Amino acid sequence: MAQNRAGLISELKTIVGQRHVLSDPVDLSVYECDAETFDVAIPDLVVLPGSSQEVAAVVKLANRHQIPFTPRGAGTGLSGGATTVRGGISLVLSRMTKILSVDADEQTAVVEVGVTNAAVSQAAAKFGLHYAPDPSSQAASTIGGNIAENAGGPHTLKYGLTIDHVLGVRVVLANGETTTFGGNTTATTGIDWLGLFVGSEGTLGFATEATLRLTMAPPAVKTMIAYFDTVEAGGEAVSKVVAAGVVPAAMEMIDRLTLNAVEDAVHLGLNREAGALLIIELDGSEISISFEKDVVERIISDGGATAIRWAKDAEERAKIWKARKASFGSLGRIAPHGYVLDGVIPRSRLAQAIRQIGDIGKQYGVQIANVYHAGDGNLHPCLLYHQDNLEEVKRVMEAGRKILDLCVQLGGTLSGEHGIGIEKLEAMSQVFTEEELAAMAMVKSTFDPEYRCNPGKLLPMPKSCGESGLRPLLRYTLSGSGGC
Ligand SMILES: Cc1cc2nc3c(=O)[nH]c(=O)nc-3n(C[C@H](O)[C@H](O)[C@H](O)COP(=O)(O)OP(=O)(O)OC[C@H]3O[C@@H](n4cnc5c(N)ncnc54)[C@H](O)[C@@H]3O)c2cc1C
Repeated sequence: MAQNRAGLISELKTIVGQRHVLSDPVDLSVYECDAETFDVAIPDLVVLPGSSQEVAAVVKLANRHQIPFTPRGAGTGLSGGATTVRGGISLVLSRMTKILSVDADEQTAVVEVGVTNAAVSQAAAKFGLHYAPDPSSQAASTIGGNIAENAGGPHTLKYGLTIDHVLGVRVVLANGETTTFGGNTTATTGIDWLGLFVGSEGTLGFATEATLRLTMAPPAVKTMIAYFDTVEAGGEAVSKVVAAGVVPAAMEMIDRLTLNAVEDAVHLGLNREAGALLIIELDGSEISISFEKDVVERIISDGGATAIRWAKDAEERAKIWKARKASFGSLGRIAPHGYVLDGVIPRSRLAQAIRQIGDIGKQYGVQIANVYHAGDGNLHPCLLYHQDNLEEVKRVMEAGRKILDLCVQLGGTLSGEHGIGIEKLEAMSQVFTEEELAAMAMVKSTFDPEYRCNPGKLLPMPKSCGESGLRPLLRYTLSGSGGC
């Protein structure tokens, strides 16, 4: 790379413009990781294309120079997916923010993938529509990143993941050719390329444009908070609500530590003594909601809720959601760093998982704040730490690994929405057999025979040191935590 660097930079500038190629070490260091900050790798170059054609031209050029390229949106990923583990080009699509059309009759939007998730809903709102997947990062994260990670959010429980709301994607393949997966309708004929691409973590090519399915705003919405003495009691109540046949739009829970951090940060008048705060949102017609409201209230009361409050109006509803959406940010008041996990367990094991995560925290002396997409068994324990305390960092990483082991043992899996990236590579063999991993590798090599598109992610490849399942890019030197 060093040998051809000047020539490559000049060719890249011809494609995307002078200002959109970054090569200064200070500029490059901004792109050393995503929101998973354990693994770091500074790209050789950062390129910000402005169109699908420019993405294709950059990919073709990188292939000619035989260097890797890694897609990046807003860099809010929590598994190191956008980190350039083999160097090369970080290809950042965040300039591509056009909303090309909103079709109110078809309830679709065509967008460039660098647009943020929240901007799509804002554009759809004037037609009484919204884009249903709502990751808590929606103000910053891009549609391209959401597609690559198959992002979810609080309303995934009722409305599904990103895959349920993407009809088609324009893709620049690893060889620089452009194609389309899916179309303008939900019908799938032939091999489901779109299904394969969504959630492939940027390893099969670049999404550049997407046709999204929009959703009618529900005629009525009711949101409540309930307090419980313990998170286990809240977890039991969540399982019982679903077992009763009610599918709320969202069921989210935070524990006492998180609740107090939120209250310190945003002063919502939350009950600081409660062990857990559960948010339940119902939506649909007035009639269905009034029936579901009674069922939910009875189950929650019988399950030991110490207080239940339904939001009176939109303002109170917004306050309730603020408590949830401010959770991770507020934890910064307790410790400067947090390692957010993303394990999934069967919903019926929620109370048990919560108990055992608490035990792991005690065993490793790690403070764990818990935020749960409780309705779909997707847990986000946030392990708090100080990065200058290497001994603490090591305990945090070990405890994190134990919690993922626990999720798998309970019949769950490694990730609900944040992806495998580089962070969970070594755990892939826990949930997939060698044959299954080999089949996935075959798909990868069909799309990307040279392994240049986001290499070193998602699939462990026990070929060389960097691919051995260890984590050679750790920011910290921790004995016994990997390395070559
Ligand atoms: C505070 C916080 C809250 C979060 N809450 C949620 C949540 O509720 N639900 C959830 O699902 N996630 C959540 N996340 C994780 C993250 O926001 C999502 O994974 C999001 O989808 C990443 O989008 P991004 O644009 O930041 O992508 P990046 O982080 O830039 O990239 C993520 C992955 O997508 C690939 N990629 C990016 N753009 C493209 C493209 N155009 N084509 C192909 N591949 C591409 C990258 O190579 C990488 O593998 C949260 C993160 C934070 C920091």
